[in-house]
Amino acid sequence: MGRQIIDTDIAIIGGGVAGLWLLNQLRNRGYSVVLFEREALGSYQTIGSQGMIHGGIKYALAGALSNSSETLAAMPAMWRQCLRGEGKVDLRGCRVLSEDFFLWSNAGMQSRLASFFASRLLRGRVERVAAGRYPAPLRSADFRGQVYRLEDLVLDVPSLVATLAQRHRDVIFAIDWQHAALRRLRRQAVLDVQGCTIVPGKLLLTAGAGNEALLTALGSTGPAMQRRPLQQVLARHQYSGDLFGHCMGSNPSPRLTISSHRDSAGRPVWYLGGDLATNGADEEPARLIARARRELADLLPWVDLGDARWATLRLERAEPRQASLLRPDSAFVGKLDSVDNALAAWPTKLTLCPDLGDQVERQLAAEGMLPRCRPDLAPLAPLGRPPLASPYWDTLFS
Ligand SMILES: Cc1cc2nc3c(=O)[nH]c(=O)nc-3n(C[C@H](O)[C@H](O)[C@H](O)COP(=O)(O)OP(=O)(O)OC[C@H]3O[C@@H](n4cnc5c(N)ncnc54)[C@H](O)[C@@H]3O)c2cc1C
Repeated sequence: MGRQIIDTDIAIIGGGVAGLWLLNQLRNRGYSVVLFEREALGSYQTIGSQGMIHGGIKYALAGALSNSSETLAAMPAMWRQCLRGEGKVDLRGCRVLSEDFFLWSNAGMQSRLASFFASRLLRGRVERVAAGRYPAPLRSADFRGQVYRLEDLVLDVPSLVATLAQRHRDVIFAIDWQHAALRRLRRQAVLDVQGCTIVPGKLLLTAGAGNEALLTALGSTGPAMQRRPLQQVLARHQYSGDLFGHCMGSNPSPRLTISSHRDSAGRPVWYLGGDLATNGADEEPARLIARARRELADLLPWVDLGDARWATLRLERAEPRQASLLRPDSAFVGKLDSVDNALAAWPTKLTLCPDLGDQVERQLAAEGMLPRCRPDLAPLAPLGRPPLASPYWDTLFS
């Protein structure tokens, strides 16, 4: 018996935040979409992210505001619109961990930060916080720095993934590549799975670091990818004060970034990134934990985490290749060079998903691609649904 053909407007491979965001935005526009995930929805970078939706001010510290910083600057407002149910993707149901995001300096950095934040370009996006309104972990008579509040917000990423998946469970499927294959049919990418051949108007590769192997499977040499590793540090502890913010040291990048979470038993976990994590990517975990403890003792000596348990998490950020491993500043969508109907996409930051969605929509519009197919996905039902990824603070300490 021949394979059953399933024509769909869009097929997406990879159910991290990028794939799930595109699934939502494109289905809202009337396209038929089917998404395949090989492990759990939101695995790797998405569930490992700190959930900060930022307007790029921390990058602006490194130099002049560029065009791409302008793209980033628009993001917090777009996410807030979505959270109210008024944007292109409905995020009602996603939990906001914090509406406040702080940036603080130790005493040595004060004058540099003050003059930078006074600049005309940042007016309205940054405010100096009065001492009485400091977040609990910075409220100490011994604190000598300055605290600023940025326009950024912090999302609870597990609830973001659940919200994005929830309305579209009917078109999300698990895929096992032992029994599935991407192939080229002339210059079209098609997917053989579950006795069917999926023929998408557009195939979107949103598999994060997994995009590399998918590009190879389709015989494509571009767009090229880069991986930037880092090693985050987690402390599960007994201190109840939450902190969401960057501590600026003498570098233009944050010396330490802290976000506060709760594990499934309600225990507080501080998740530590910034220079600690990027410079410590190849460090032996015990040494990195020792460094993290020294950093906290130096920056917040009055905070007693109690009897904390420590862990590290090594992840790779997957992005389009840049000259000299620089950090890209906008979402990336690029055509494969081996087929005509596929795009590889990397948001490069959770924050940039709205930009990613708009870029893909613009691409479809430029090609005159309108919603066309109404596929029957019933033959794919035996594939089953992938689960949601568990937060690392629930899995790393066990
Ligand atoms: C430690 C860390 C902290 C971060 N913090 C922030 C932050 O605070 N704010 C911010 O804006 N950005 C942050 N980022 C960046 C952000 O997390 C990523 O840009 C974003 O999550 C990338 O999403 P993605 O969907 O492209 O990839 P991923 O999240 O990696 O998802 C890829 C998905 O594809 C699946 N997959 C892989 N291969 C295949 C395959 N062959 N077939 C099917 N499925 C496949 C995977 O299982 C996974 O579910 C952080 C990144 C890291 C690593």
